[in-house]
Amino acid sequence: MTLLFLEPSTRTSSSFAAAMQRLGGAVNHFTPATSSTVKGESLEDTVRCLQSYSDVLVVRHPEAGAAARVAATVDLANTESSQMLQPLDMLHRVDSDKQGDCASSQRALPHGQCVVMNAGDGAGEHPTQALVDVFTMLCEITDRKQPRLLPLWRFERLSGFTVTLLGDMKFGRTTHSLAQALGTVAGANSKDGDKEPALTVVYVAPSELAMPTDIITAAAAAATAGADAKANTKTKTNAKCDAVAASSPNGVTVSGLCQRIADISALTSAPKKGVPCLLAQTDVLYVTRVQKERFPSEDAWQQYQQSVSTTAASSSASAVAASQAAASSSSGYCITPELLKQGEAKPTLRVLHPLPRVDEVPPALEATEPLRAAYMRQMRWGLYLRMALIAEALGATDEIEALYARAMGQAE
Ligand code: ASP
Repeated sequence: MTLLFLEPSTRTSSSFAAAMQRLGGAVNHFTPATSSTVKGESLEDTVRCLQSYSDVLVVRHPEAGAAARVAATVDLANTESSQMLQPLDMLHRVDSDKQGDCASSQRALPHGQCVVMNAGDGAGEHPTQALVDVFTMLCEITDRKQPRLLPLWRFERLSGFTVTLLGDMKFGRTTHSLAQALGTVAGANSKDGDKEPALTVVYVAPSELAMPTDIITAAAAAATAGADAKANTKTKTNAKCDAVAASSPNGVTVSGLCQRIADISALTSAPKKGVPCLLAQTDVLYVTRVQKERFPSEDAWQQYQQSVSTTAASSSASAVAASQAAASSSSGYCITPELLKQGEAKPTLRVLHPLPRVDEVPPALEATEPLRAAYMRQMRWGLYLRMALIAEALGATDEIEALYARAMGQAE
């Protein structure tokens, strides 16, 4: 596996590397500063080079759409490789068989072929993080009406849940991928004639950093595809999702997925008498940091800072905990233990965060609420998820399951 990271990373790069090593593979850490990138080599040429020596190419890049460019380059190279290089690749295969390299001799992905994984492309997407996020939700569910007895991989475990996404949804690529992944989960869980949505997703962002309309539409389309909806639903989906973008208090439900937009103050203030506030309704609170590095200029960032401090200072008294916490944070929102208390958060609430954090989830949260602070465990779930993903991509799942069964047998 080659890690082609052209933007900083701690968790994604380390977990991909650890996952590959645990599966018995090797990892090449590409270092841009000492590579031909500094001589002006194009991304495409760098990729043609690295794919020649890799089965998996994990790419992170500052531009949205870069991962698709890498995939297109690798697709071409794979085709060429299968037409021209097969005899030599076969020799390599015989060689590795002799050395007992079972992981490479039994896998389904032919030698000389490479798969690409998007580890974050600018403000675009971060799909493997979304898989980690959904997997974390599945792993973290303890009680509630869905029994523990349901197998881990069953999306029904999330049926009827409210997932609140909080933070920078304009630039936050993890929220873009997660919204669509949750659409798929909702679609898979939706049943004809259901009165309640299979999943409610609430987008809570500072007004400057709202969820883009095309992501809201894409999430609804994912739900519709998942629910295998009837013809012509797509047009309706788009129209309805534009309405969500214009903000609708009860949200709009398409194929089991209810999407809502709410203000930060709604976290702790009840919209109507007798209706619990958003925090009290939430099962999973997914917090993200403001992506300072994606603001077009330092001035734009300063303006944002100014506007959040003014908004926090003028918030209504009913949202006092939210505004107090926000006033002391640079993001404009902060999930403190006091805020969870004031918002009457469910004991089963899980707070997730793709990390890194700035000050939107303070260390005091995991210190006083270790169970709710699932973001600390989310990193480990990410290791297992990425192991599964690599094994699946290389077609090595059966072999790994057999090895696991053997190891379990020996352990008994
Ligand atoms: N680590 C995540 C990403 O690369 C989240 C973040 O940076 O805020 O997108």
